[in-house]
Amino acid sequence: MRILLLEDEPKISRFLARGLGEEGHRVQVTEDIDHARRALTDAAFDLWIVDRMLPDGDGLTLVRERRKAGDRTPALCLTARDRVEERVEGLIGGADDYLVKPFAFDELLARIAALARRAGGGERLVVGDLEIDPGAHRAWRGGQDLKLTAQEFRLLRYLAENAGRVLSRTRLLEHVWDTHHDPGTNVVDVYVGYLRGKVDKGFERPLLHTVRGVGYVLEAAER
Ligand code: CA
Repeated sequence: MRILLLEDEPKISRFLARGLGEEGHRVQVTEDIDHARRALTDAAFDLWIVDRMLPDGDGLTLVRERRKAGDRTPALCLTARDRVEERVEGLIGGADDYLVKPFAFDELLARIAALARRAGGGERLVVGDLEIDPGAHRAWRGGQDLKLTAQEFRLLRYLAENAGRVLSRTRLLEHVWDTHHDPGTNVVDVYVGYLRGKVDKGFERPLLHTVRGVGYVLEAAER
């Protein structure tokens, strides 16, 4: 998911950006409401994580503002305040969930997964006997957990979202690695190799197919 993180404490934002990045999310960090507002006009995000006490005000101001404009992007509010009435205020203010600092990273991940599911982004993808849960960042084949790394998961998810369509290396680089130039390496082929080792190994029918001179396709039918 593309996540906008609005947090002015560098220690927290660095920690969260790194942890969420390792989970396969793309995080843009902004330190005040003004910058976050500009980031929102430049790009679309799947989730906002918003601190309340910021140099230029309360992060909820921005959430309220966007809700008024009809934007329903899920928002998770972070705060050091833990009084019940402020929690209620947070939810009334348009945030979808609330996390009190300090919190455990696993708790944050669980909340994010729940919000993604509620937003519909967590709908499961199914290709043959392969099942992917985007919210939980997990995939199974024949009911068995594939235990993918974050990057393998992103690649598999993108292939599954385009199941039956042949995807070129360039397109995979753009969408999965977010790079618009050829890194001059065979990173795509290497990762498809890793995925094969997990998705297809031990199964009679492969799901990942190479289309010579074109790219790769994920498909349940034989090719
Ligand atoms: Ca703060």
